[in-house]
Amino acid sequence: MQVPAPFDYVRATSVDNVLELLERHGPESRVIAGGHSLLPMMKLRLARPEWLIDINDLTELRHITVDGDWLRVGALTRHADLLASEVVGRLFPMVHDAEKVIADPVVRNRGTIGGSLGQADPAEDLTTVCDVLRAQVFITARGGERTVDIHQFHRGPYETACEQHELLTEIRFPIGVRQGSAYEKVERRVGDWAVGAAGAALWMAEDGTIADATIGLTALGLEGLAVDAAAVLVGQRPSEDLFAEAADLARAASSPIEDQRGPVDYKRHLASELTVRALTKALDRAAHSTAVQGG
Ligand SMILES: Cc1cc2nc3c(=O)[nH]c(=O)nc-3n(C[C@H](O)[C@H](O)[C@H](O)COP(=O)(O)OP(=O)(O)OC[C@H]3O[C@@H](n4cnc5c(N)ncnc54)[C@H](O)[C@@H]3O)c2cc1C
Repeated sequence: MQVPAPFDYVRATSVDNVLELLERHGPESRVIAGGHSLLPMMKLRLARPEWLIDINDLTELRHITVDGDWLRVGALTRHADLLASEVVGRLFPMVHDAEKVIADPVVRNRGTIGGSLGQADPAEDLTTVCDVLRAQVFITARGGERTVDIHQFHRGPYETACEQHELLTEIRFPIGVRQGSAYEKVERRVGDWAVGAAGAALWMAEDGTIADATIGLTALGLEGLAVDAAAVLVGQRPSEDLFAEAADLARAASSPIEDQRGPVDYKRHLASELTVRALTKALDRAAHSTAVQGG
């Protein structure tokens, strides 16, 4: 049985206390939330923190709130909280699409949005969701708070803009009008990581053209958004041909590698096919969107 290297453990009592503990214990200390990523890494000795700072008592980091034009989600909000939230499903249905297929109930009951983004695994579903929805990340340090666009937050695999002495405290999603979003994932078996996935959001103009669009891919070798694929949609009337053109560009932007989940050709096919499906569903949802605030 794999066991982690020895470590010390402390339960933080407040955000200020976390920041003070991170400073006191230095680079060998790590925050732990759900532990579903960090503990497996520790068992494999890929992470060897000397101090674990447990943030699970910080209820102030576990909330889902509509605040003006923003949906604010605390970093300690569990996958299961997002899935159970009516307002999340109504405003951002792609979050529910993704959460239904992230791991299993055991992981979803404990794993958090902050831990998912903090882990920065390239196959992680919520990263694409946050990219597509143009989320902002709030990071708190002893000197104050700063906001980072999600595409600046992820600096590469397993690396984020959150420094060792900082804490990710909140994720904010801008609420749009006539907006629809969807996430389509293919997995080898229920609860598995994605073979490939695509997310899309559409913002419709009053005249029925597409005012704005974003497309993202998961586990298909694309960092950030498929910018060219989304650009062909803007100003156009939605149609099957238009979505097929965008899907071709998403496929061209993908750069998957062959692994135990499938060969390159199959994954490129997924980039295209799942983009069409996500766009089609997002369009349908935008048409039915009652846009919006409150809840
Ligand atoms: C069996 C299994 C299947 C899975 N399947 C999927 C899947 O299909 N799709 C998917 O996307 N994910 C999947 N996951 C990953 C899972 O969703 C994440 O591991 C988990 O939600 C991460 O959140 P956590 O709270 O457990 O993070 P933790 O393990 O506690 O932390 C992860 C990292 O984030 C840091 N961190 C945590 N919170 C903060 C914070 N507030 N501020 C700064 N840093 C922080 C930690 O220091 C650590 O480095 C799976 C995991 C397991 C175990």
